[in-house]
Amino acid sequence: MKDLTTNTPGAETVKLKLAIQKSGRLHDDSIKLLKECGIDISNGVNKLKAEASNFPIEVFFLRDDDIPQYVEDAVADIGFVGENVVYEKKKKVDVVEKLGFGKCRLSLAIRKGEEYTGPQFLAGKKIATSYPVILGDYLKTQGVSAEIHEISGSVEIAPGIGLADAICDLVSSGSTLFMNGLKETESILQSQAVLIRYQQLEAAKQQLLDRLMFRIQAVKKAKNNKYVLLNAPNAKLKEIIGLLPGMKSPTVLPLAEEGWSSVHSVLNENDFWDIIEQLKAAGAQGILVVPIEKMIV
Ligand code: ATP
Ligand code: ZN
Repeated sequence: MKDLTTNTPGAETVKLKLAIQKSGRLHDDSIKLLKECGIDISNGVNKLKAEASNFPIEVFFLRDDDIPQYVEDAVADIGFVGENVVYEKKKKVDVVEKLGFGKCRLSLAIRKGEEYTGPQFLAGKKIATSYPVILGDYLKTQGVSAEIHEISGSVEIAPGIGLADAICDLVSSGSTLFMNGLKETESILQSQAVLIRYQQLEAAKQQLLDRLMFRIQAVKKAKNNKYVLLNAPNAKLKEIIGLLPGMKSPTVLPLAEEGWSSVHSVLNENDFWDIIEQLKAAGAQGILVVPIEKMIV
């Protein structure tokens, strides 16, 4: 088989340079996604960068806040980083794909005991945040004039120590807000990790990115779908097939037992439970649900 990772002798080997978070909430999921794409960077991982043994890619480990700048400057060709950071930094990079991990929201919160009356509540107030750009844009669109106090960490303690009247910070479960005597009032941005790209990526690197994107999309699709196998009495087959979307149409195989068939199909996670209930009600038996590792359509 032709080894796609080796280029012609003498020619410079083209490698895609990917920046991911060095440590923190996005690190493990970024490595996991590469692994699911069949990209192995376990060899020779040092603190700064790692090279894949089976795909022309080099991975740089950086602070997430710096990733948009490195990609704008083509120090890295692509990066995995939260949308919150991309929109805050406003660097010239393309957002290519949502990656499905690192989900959180950027929200406004005020002291628990206070009554929230809508965005105008914030007028003339002091808001602590690490996201002054996104918050500033939000306040502008709401026509609210407030004082933005930029701090780099532990934003949630600001109201408690009298530093601010409200905060604008990343939230996932809300438990940090609760523990600090705060309540969430508005969510101003939904965020997840995205793949960003240098805007003038050369053709050879774009080809590598296309190969990587093909794998990422297959992994994402597989996660959103389940493979379902069930037994159906032939008398109910038409009704049961009618409930199943399938990639094209479901596979139907005769069972050894007369009058029964085995039906195989793919179900989307969103309508999964609804359809399973309907299948059961329609007479399906022995329903098996199997995770899909990769899905190429
Ligand atoms: P670094 O040292 O790399 O700058 P950091 O402290 O800024 O790290 P983390 O707390 O690891 O970063 O968060 C990285 C990203 O994870 C955030 O920018 C955001 O996109 C995402 N994220 C997901 N859930 C949360 C959450 N509950 N709180 C903060 N960030 C979250
Ligand atoms: Zn950061």
